[in-house]
Amino acid sequence: MPIYEYVCPKCDLKFDQLRRLSQADEEASCPRCQNTAKRVLSTFCSFSKDESGLTSSIGGSSCASCSAASCDSCDL
Ligand SMILES: [Zn+2]
Repeated sequence: MPIYEYVCPKCDLKFDQLRRLSQADEEASCPRCQNTAKRVLSTFCSFSKDESGLTSSIGGSSCASCSAASCDSCDL
């Protein structure tokens, strides 16, 4: 299961959450202030390697760390 990184825009807290890929786009609650935190692209499984300019999310692009089509296969 991939780990996603979230940042709270209110208190600037960064935290990680383990989520299924299907839940990746769901928002998380800040553990400190309960504000809605936004997902940030983590250091792995987030950047597309192709040069087509696709910068959007997971789903379709290959994983940076395992080169699989889906980051679900990352076992980090
Ligand atoms: Zn917060």
